[in-house]
Amino acid sequence: MAEIVIIGAGISGLMAARELLKSGHAITIIEARDRVGGRIHGIQGKFSTPVETGAEFVHGKQPITFELLKEARMDKRLLKGRFYSIAQDELRGDMLDDHWQQLFHELDKLEADVPLAEFLQLRFGSDEFKDLRHRVTQFAEGFDIADTTRVSTCALREEWKHSDDEHQYHPEGGYSTLVDFLKNGIAEKGGRIVLNEPVVEVQHTAKNAEIVSISGKIYRADKVIVTVPLGVLQRGKIAFSPPLPEHQAAFASMGFGGVIKFHFEFREPVWESKRHRHLPDLAFAFSDAEVPTWWSQLPDETPMLTGWYSGPRTFETHHTNDSLYRIALQSLQYILRRNPSEIESAIRHWHVTNWVQDEFSCGAYSYPTLQSAQARKVLSNPVNDVLYFAGEALYEGSSGGTVEAALASVREVVSRISTMN
Ligand SMILES: Cc1cc2nc3c(=O)[nH]c(=O)nc-3n(C[C@H](O)[C@H](O)[C@H](O)COP(=O)(O)OP(=O)(O)OC[C@H]3O[C@@H](n4cnc5c(N)ncnc54)[C@H](O)[C@@H]3O)c2cc1C
Repeated sequence: MAEIVIIGAGISGLMAARELLKSGHAITIIEARDRVGGRIHGIQGKFSTPVETGAEFVHGKQPITFELLKEARMDKRLLKGRFYSIAQDELRGDMLDDHWQQLFHELDKLEADVPLAEFLQLRFGSDEFKDLRHRVTQFAEGFDIADTTRVSTCALREEWKHSDDEHQYHPEGGYSTLVDFLKNGIAEKGGRIVLNEPVVEVQHTAKNAEIVSISGKIYRADKVIVTVPLGVLQRGKIAFSPPLPEHQAAFASMGFGGVIKFHFEFREPVWESKRHRHLPDLAFAFSDAEVPTWWSQLPDETPMLTGWYSGPRTFETHHTNDSLYRIALQSLQYILRRNPSEIESAIRHWHVTNWVQDEFSCGAYSYPTLQSAQARKVLSNPVNDVLYFAGEALYEGSSGGTVEAALASVREVVSRISTMN
């Protein structure tokens, strides 16, 4: 059986360890942070309920995630409540209006892939469609956290067609509970997790690899699986020796977007005040505010709102958390038609999580470019059956940028290693 080193203890690293331990391999996970979970991170602090600063929802019926939740004996809560849309200071009606039907009609006709911005200009370039262009761009930057000048229109079409908006769930206890379940299982089976050890170099030969950490420690392995985020690889934070120019080009050609997430816990549900903008049963509010998207925890009634600031602008913003907090406050003031001091006095606790400035993530999750499919082909081929890549960005399918994507990418690698031995 092989000695395997996995770099990164996010959900994909943990899942790979668990599956490979079942086949009797010796597993060491090397993790840069002082915790496992990566882009899954629950905190409580002063909040009256734990909050997930990274992954939070199960988007629709995700088979591997569902299976794992079942094994961990975790329930999931179906998202409830109403969706609101606010633009130019007015509440709007149905978000899927005629323009959206027209959009899908044009998307269906598209044969040769182009970036979304180009598609919108080609098919909806006139003034009449200004609003449509704006809203579609906002959606792609918001949900897909994509740069519309790079994101693949054909890939978005697939994703949007398969999206299951009716079935959004919160895993009971949060994804962090799932991470703990995997971590405990690894310890029980004799797997080793080394924390606080950023890897800086992977030296690989046709037979084995040496993994060098920032403290100069060397770990030897028959095989190594790299599961660090695409953003980390794009910035060359791990050197490969001999170098892998084709892989580096593949990393660069893929998309990796940014998110800044806000958590505001209030003394009471401020969105239910009838003296201001009244948003009863609020599940989601989409708006043209600077921090445009906010959601509650319904059916959990904790008076908490989560704000979502995403897309290319997150990489251009160099605000401190305090100034980001002020921007979020102004956005809520606009959405709820209240003055900032009123909102501020109703806040019990707040927290800002900036995934772009996180040195072990360098962004939030991947989005598909026109080159992504080709890049994934390069990355999913192991180098000499010694060096493998896995993780959210390596996934091929319509659930990109999710926990499901991370879990699915691992299945490929594990089955490949299993058939090799
Ligand atoms: C704000 C946000 C919201 C999200 N919302 C959702 C959601 O609602 N639903 C959903 O399904 N998905 C969501 N996602 C995506 C989801 O979190 C990821 O797809 C998934 O967690 C990725 O897992 P991973 O194991 O591939 O990567 P990661 O979790 O990033 O794990 C990689 C690990 O590598 C470590 N690492 C980095 N550099 C080094 C180094 N040099 N040496 C050693 N270790 C290193 C990192 O610390 C990390 O622990 C969200 C992500 C973010 C950021």
